[in-house]
Amino acid sequence: MKIICIGRNYIDHAKELNSAVPTEPVFFLKPDTCLVSRNQPFFYPEFSKEIHYETELVVRINKVGKHIQEKFAHTYYDEVSVGIDFTARDIQRNCQQKGLPWEISKGFDNAAPVGKFVNTNIFKSVQDIDLKLTINDQIVQSGTTRDMIFSVDTIISYVSKFITLKMGDLIFTGTPAGVGPVKIGDKLEAFLNDQSLLKCDIK
Ligand code: MG
Repeated sequence: MKIICIGRNYIDHAKELNSAVPTEPVFFLKPDTCLVSRNQPFFYPEFSKEIHYETELVVRINKVGKHIQEKFAHTYYDEVSVGIDFTARDIQRNCQQKGLPWEISKGFDNAAPVGKFVNTNIFKSVQDIDLKLTINDQIVQSGTTRDMIFSVDTIISYVSKFITLKMGDLIFTGTPAGVGPVKIGDKLEAFLNDQSLLKCDIK
């Protein structure tokens, strides 16, 4: 399986990173070695001093598809969860300044904890889900998928023009504003509509 991540999918987050608001979805991949199964700890890597959380709606693809039309995209998933797109911001900034790919800042081991998946039918719409992250029981990030620049269905259609989607692939759909650092000892908990689906301790 592969993990496809959308960048800059919320205007407020693009602004907080001084990034341009994209006119087409921007995506990158994380290897499957990024996955941290539910409620397992994240071990702070020694190569970064600035690991940031990014709380994102995660969509699980349920069948093979290529060149998926947007109007059929909703038939390619029926489960979603919340995930953390951990980012070594110091490394990413350094790569960006040099004009280099920033894969290492996003694709290192354990950089993608993912929570329990729930059926999409418990939500009115995947485009109307609240996202929330707490650290040590304090809310540090909250947003709503209503504010996505590109909808889940647009993303699936766009990505599948270039890359065949397969059953079990995960799509991280971008983070709202409010990203920030974690430190050893922090206890993260992530929610969709106030339903706790992921816990992750930083060790
Ligand atoms: Mg992200």
